[in-house]
Amino acid sequence: MNLTFLISVYNEEDALPGLVENFSALWARTGAHVLFVNDGSTDTTLLKLEALARGNPRIGYIDLSRNFGKEQALAAGMSAIPSGQNVIVMDGDGQHTAKAAGALLAAADQSENTDIVFGVRKERLYQGFIDRTLSNAFYKVANSLLRSPLDPRLGDFFFARAHVVDTLKAFAGSKLFWKGVYSYIGYERAEVPIDIAEREAGQSKFSLFRRLGLAIDGIVWLSKTPLHIISFLGLLISALSFGFAAFIVVQWLLTGVAVPGFYTIIVLQSFGVGIIMLSLGIMALYLSVVFENTSQKPGFILSRRSRLPQWDKPDSDRSS
Ligand code: UDP
Ligand code: MG
Repeated sequence: MNLTFLISVYNEEDALPGLVENFSALWARTGAHVLFVNDGSTDTTLLKLEALARGNPRIGYIDLSRNFGKEQALAAGMSAIPSGQNVIVMDGDGQHTAKAAGALLAAADQSENTDIVFGVRKERLYQGFIDRTLSNAFYKVANSLLRSPLDPRLGDFFFARAHVVDTLKAFAGSKLFWKGVYSYIGYERAEVPIDIAEREAGQSKFSLFRRLGLAIDGIVWLSKTPLHIISFLGLLISALSFGFAAFIVVQWLLTGVAVPGFYTIIVLQSFGVGIIMLSLGIMALYLSVVFENTSQKPGFILSRRSRLPQWDKPDSDRSS
């Protein structure tokens, strides 16, 4: 089968040797091609990739002109892969092991009808308590808003058949959020529980805030519900204030005393302003998506140093 591994790396010079050692047997056995995306690394990652590619025509890389972030790096990688390739997307820090990738392939082999196989982590061991609690809460809220729920367990580690890769490529042109894409595309999917290994070296590039930011982008990208909620809130608050006004008038007519309501006014004022700011903020988020997608900025830019794996080499010695 035509198989390409897509791996985006950002400053992974220390992790790469271990990764290659771990995967070389699987890559050889499956006759796979490997496409790295160097996401603007500032260390020697690119040099390491150059050396790898020189030694093996099935390994190649594209080099982005700067760090665009993993989302765009994956988009760049997808765009560079010729159609007809089945793809395994994985991290380049050693957390996704050859054993786990083998399990994805085995699950795909079990049923022709499975379009996409996700590796789901058994447990996010390396995630701290606060981190875990916050992100759980976040996904609860998010998923009550979304028709196709985001699955927090799905990371960028999956096997996709060629036709699914074509679908994924269609998303690669715009500002995107892959976790949202995975939930949006549907398809027959399988899940394989896997152990996420410790990083080979270095540390995670995603802070809690960066992940939350990404997730908010995802909601805005997937759902109009927050806009509906603020319109509804606006309506509700108008209705309430009309009711309150009527109450005051009636009370004044009955007792002749105007309500002494200095504090009430302050509270209501700040409540109102709060809601307005929140609503503006939410609208701004949506506006930013419109802006991103109409501004015609390319989502990623390649440097001159890319060197693709040689997909066109005839594969006569390996069938199936
Ligand atoms: N990565 C990338 N661009 C970035 C940040 C990360 O290509 O801007 C790569 C990184 O080199 C690794 C993968 O994305 O191969 C996952 O990153 P990381 O391990 O930092 O994330 P975590 O596993 O903690 O979610
Ligand atoms: Mg990692």
